Amino acid sequence: MTGKIVKGISGFYYVHVVESGIYECKAKGIFRNQNIKPLVGDNVEIDIIDEEGKKGNITAIHDRMNQLLRPAVSNVDQAVVIFAATKPNPNLNLLDRFLLFMEKEQVPTLICFNKSDLAEEDKLEELRKTYENSGCKVIFTSAKQESGLEELQMELEGKVSTVAGPSGVGKSSLINLLQTDIAMETGEISKKIERGKHTTRHSQLIPIKADTYIMDTPGFSTLYLENFEKEELKDYYNEFQDYFSECRFMGCNHISEPDCGVKKAVEQGDIPKSRYENYKILFEELSQVKKY
Ligand code: GDP
Ligand code: ZN
Repeated sequence: MTGKIVKGISGFYYVHVVESGIYECKAKGIFRNQNIKPLVGDNVEIDIIDEEGKKGNITAIHDRMNQLLRPAVSNVDQAVVIFAATKPNPNLNLLDRFLLFMEKEQVPTLICFNKSDLAEEDKLEELRKTYENSGCKVIFTSAKQESGLEELQMELEGKVSTVAGPSGVGKSSLINLLQTDIAMETGEISKKIERGKHTTRHSQLIPIKADTYIMDTPGFSTLYLENFEKEELKDYYNEFQDYFSECRFMGCNHISEPDCGVKKAVEQGDIPKSRYENYKILFEELSQVKKY
């Protein structure tokens, strides 16, 4: 049978099989045979050892499409990053940092501004405009009024998504609204697992429906751009790409160089100020990093 690892705890892997639920599996022999450690998100073959007790053994791991380090998960189709449109005011510098990480990993990202019920129309429009050419899709939701949920559901459909965002933006509220019976059921199973095994927080995929999974990740309030070179940042800004050719210098960083097409585009309002200003801040930040 084929399933997906939704959770791994101390040598046990919990494998979701769409037709029949979650099996507690060992991965005997896998490491020896394939020389890899199973990862949450892996699509695997299992032999059922005990149908009633829902126990099995993983016999093979399918090839991975990709693999993220934080959170540790494989076969991710997209990231969904949630910020509040207001209350708290979105920290766009933090959002841009998140987008840089995903661009670097080549994971498509959906930006979801929640609490749209609290924000003025102008504010929503400004956010939409700021990210319209970022390469990310932008949607607006209100967990309170349950609006924008169909669109969010549609974007998740049939995919594995990691869901991230700072705390207080309504991430849990949205995830609760997305949970169907199947997700509740596996949630219950997970609780049982957790009680039995004294573990700290482990990453876990929540099955929303057949072939649709989300991974809830802990709220973050800072993201430090480790493993980034300042010179590579500009490559991750979709908005800049059309204007490179108008820079006088090859490899222009669009900071202090004269005759810079990107800076010109910012002045003319073709590139959002917020995106560019935060780019400069991040570039400066990486310039301060001491090289040993
Ligand atoms: P999390 O920390 O991101 O998981 O946020 P929660 O889901 O716990 O929500 C934080 C607070 O914001 C709670 O008091 C929610 O009731 C409230 N909240 C969440 N979503 C919305 C929304 O769309 N509109 C409004 N007005 N409040 C919301
Ligand atoms: Zn330039």
